Amino acid sequence: MTAYMNHKDLANEVIEDARSREIADGVHRVLDRIASAEEKAGREAGSVRLLAATKTRDVGEIMAAIDAGVRMIGENRPQEVAAKADGLAKRCVERGFTLGVTADAADSTEVVTSAHIPFHLIGQLQSNKIGKVLPVVNTIESVDSLDLAEKISRRAVARGITVGVLLEINESGEESKSGCDPAHAIRIAQKIGTLDGLELQGLMTIGAHVDDEAVIRRGFAHLRKTRDLILASGEPGTGNCHELSMGMTGDMELAIAEGSTIVRVGTAIFGERAFI
Ligand SMILES: *Cc1c(COP(=O)(O)O)cnc(C)c1O
Repeated sequence: MTAYMNHKDLANEVIEDARSREIADGVHRVLDRIASAEEKAGREAGSVRLLAATKTRDVGEIMAAIDAGVRMIGENRPQEVAAKADGLAKRCVERGFTLGVTADAADSTEVVTSAHIPFHLIGQLQSNKIGKVLPVVNTIESVDSLDLAEKISRRAVARGITVGVLLEINESGEESKSGCDPAHAIRIAQKIGTLDGLELQGLMTIGAHVDDEAVIRRGFAHLRKTRDLILASGEPGTGNCHELSMGMTGDMELAIAEGSTIVRVGTAIFGERAFI
């Protein structure tokens, strides 16, 4: 178990009023940044959805973000999903929302109402943890190989569910980053499209860790081009490959200019992480 989980109770539900206001201000600032970036890019208002990246945050902090308008959350680690899922689901139901995979949804991707808060996995998934996340998450954004997709497919079929999948692509080529090689992405996406129990919903990338905005934008633009080629291929199971999950605290404006449909934001909502 990851060390930080020993010194923070992630299931904690009660936070200080001041902390709750700080998080609400963060959410409002991010929603304003998204709206301005949409406008500047000539995109329709509301075409970019905000996913709150909630790693290291407890249930109370995440609910403060939801109360301030967050309507999608993403966790990195299966252990954190497990630690928070019950508390979050209960607090969401009290507010009239459903969260993640609901008990009555045989098909986890089908519930798309304004009262549903999708729960995504955005961090690396080891195959022995698939069973931990499938009861909870609607979509796994961090599928970076056909092998992992096949394993998720088998587990989903066994459970009689459909799991949303984004193919994560390492557009920057940085060694430290996960994601498949861009040169193989289209072929892998087309294969994922044929797997039972999965719905290929789009692509995901993490922006290059550099100062040069042109380099960051190039990676995002390439993700969009790859998505367009996958859609244009007309191959079976690729027709819903619309999402572009790209853009974080430091580069969301660049990502929105390049067509992002989901920005994954942690720091700008919750503040700096005290631990990784
Ligand atoms: C932490 C994380 C984010 C959010 O990063 P911030 O810079 O804190 O906004 C987005 N995507 C992934 C995969 C992450 O792990």
